[in-house]
Amino acid sequence: MSEHKKLYDTVFDLIEKHDNWMSKTINLIASENISSPAVRSAIVCDFRDRYAEGWPGERVYAGCKYIDEVELICIDLAKKLYNAEFADVRPVSGVVANLMMYTATMAPGDRMMALSIAHGGHISHARRNLGGTAGAVRGHKVRNWVFDEKEFNIDVDASIKEIRKLQEGGQEIKLLLFGGSVFPFPHPVKEFRDIADEYGMRIGYDSAHVSGLIAAGRFQDPLREGADIMTASTHKTMPGPQHGIVLAREELSEAVKRAAFPGMMSNHHLHNVAGLAVVLAEMMEFGKDYSEQIIKNAKALAQALYDRGWKVIAEHKGFTESHVVLVDISETPMKNGRIVEEQLERANIIINRNLLPWDKKMGRDYKTPGGIRLGTSEMTRLGMREPEMDAIAEFMHRVVMKGESVVKVAEDVAEFRKEYQKVQFAFDTKTPAYKHLRFL
Ligand SMILES: *Cc1c(COP(=O)(O)O)cnc(C)c1O
Repeated sequence: MSEHKKLYDTVFDLIEKHDNWMSKTINLIASENISSPAVRSAIVCDFRDRYAEGWPGERVYAGCKYIDEVELICIDLAKKLYNAEFADVRPVSGVVANLMMYTATMAPGDRMMALSIAHGGHISHARRNLGGTAGAVRGHKVRNWVFDEKEFNIDVDASIKEIRKLQEGGQEIKLLLFGGSVFPFPHPVKEFRDIADEYGMRIGYDSAHVSGLIAAGRFQDPLREGADIMTASTHKTMPGPQHGIVLAREELSEAVKRAAFPGMMSNHHLHNVAGLAVVLAEMMEFGKDYSEQIIKNAKALAQALYDRGWKVIAEHKGFTESHVVLVDISETPMKNGRIVEEQLERANIIINRNLLPWDKKMGRDYKTPGGIRLGTSEMTRLGMREPEMDAIAEFMHRVVMKGESVVKVAEDVAEFRKEYQKVQFAFDTKTPAYKHLRFL
């Protein structure tokens, strides 16, 4: 057999191994989810090999008549789901959606407010010295929201004071950006609408993590609370293909369109637009029940860990109002997030290590932080409810607190997972959740 054929076969072997492993794990990565067999069927269609630069009906390429219809259905569903005046479904990811937002609302070098990474902000909001997208790619100056660590939210009064000080001192701000990657509580958007109008600032909202919850009318409604523009990833609490969306007020529509093409994209991954249309239809039908259960499960998982003596963030606020739970593991026998992440992975439990707001002060960094981040979107999609969250907390407890053999726990986790092999909250299908759709 040729060397190349061997490598070719190895790729498929590894894919099978990965899928098989995933079907045995408890995946609590807050930014991940499992898409339905319907979404996966859509994203392997011929659209994947085509181009359709521009807006549906005004393409720069021929051969797009069916692609255009699908994209228009996708746009229509997105506008309905978010009750938005305008939707652009072309950004190929959440970061690209953010770049479109920056391009549509600011000139290069303009100043913006965003959450710092330590407080749950995303690298695409960060300044140049961190290599962040806003600073390093667009040259934006970034000021951070004043954050109340106890309430785990933006401090409204202190932030308004800061904005006034900057504006009055000649350091003009153009965009107030809300949203983040550790996002347990709704951000105070409406509280900033007046000052935004006073100084002519735009309000942006990055819903990457919570776009599925918002689509279902949970968490918060940024476009009604005063946001001019909202970006999203479509694969976190929204169980779609890896893609992005920009939603905006009509007055920003032309600027957003130009940012997509000719600005940011030639090819916008048309197969994923098809997959996105499918997941938006699923969310219309099942999104409310799904989102409600995600949030219930997050609260239940937090409570179950807390009851076992774990230090879960924001206990006095009921831990979370979203899919995400943040846990301080610095006082556990494992002491840092990297070790907890590694040991849980060996026990078939997949989680993220995560910085805590006070880690820097304690001399810890993102490599060995004091926290872990958990999310319930994927396990909820497989039909798990509150009792299963208690079982998951117990598996974690056995590894992290009791120091039990990870090999034994891994076996027990795989056994536990056997019952949850079908995607729920989707139009019915017989295909198992983690089955690789293979045509060879
Ligand atoms: C995940 C995330 C993104 C990036 O999304 P991609 O789709 O991975 O590009 C942007 N913003 C926030 C707040 C995120 O959490």
